Amino acid sequence: MIIAIDGPAAAGKGTLARRIAAALGLPYLDTGLLYRAVGRLVLEAGGDPADPVAATAAARALRAEDFARGDLRDAAASKAASQVASIPEVRAALLAFQRRFGNENGAVLDGRDIGTIIFPEAEIKLFVTASLAARAGRRHAELRAKGDEVTLEAVRADLAARDEADARRAAAPLVAAADAILFDTTEMDADAAFSRALALIKARAG
Ligand code: C5P
Repeated sequence: MIIAIDGPAAAGKGTLARRIAAALGLPYLDTGLLYRAVGRLVLEAGGDPADPVAATAAARALRAEDFARGDLRDAAASKAASQVASIPEVRAALLAFQRRFGNENGAVLDGRDIGTIIFPEAEIKLFVTASLAARAGRRHAELRAKGDEVTLEAVRADLAARDEADARRAAAPLVAAADAILFDTTEMDADAAFSRALALIKARAG
């Protein structure tokens, strides 16, 4: 079984996807980490993440240990991820890895284009959203808990800019699949989102 969980940044996809995967005994892949790792590799080499040649070379050279780095969640990696993600050759280079991962034993994958491009035939598709204010508040609290001194306003601006870039790009833009279940977590905490999503999945999967 493939469960595709897409949506804008900081809507709660990652926490939800991880818990659903654990509950159903499925492998989990955070596909954002692939783009973050590519962006980070380009930055580290002194390149420009918007440069298709540098970004595509990094995507083709990506190794499993690159996803395990500790510096993939900061603002620089987020911005670089969004930049490399708009390059069609980068997306093409990462597509086979994602499909192989899912096809091995089934999986829960979260990202932006899982239900539209990577697994259009996924049995279950959730499109997870929340208001910008709710998403910014959650991401801000998460970063502060890690000791990051970033302001709420900066987090909000970063999320808005990434959402805009993800939704407007020509290559695999952020959009809900026609057959996705829309799931708004603005008024839900993580436990409520998990139990409701699991109930929806069980109902849909029979
Ligand atoms: O999900 P996360 O915020 O970690 O993703 C980082 C960036 O990677 C997103 O802003 C988006 O530009 C890109 N991305 C993507 N497609 C995916 C996952 C992430 O374009 N499937």
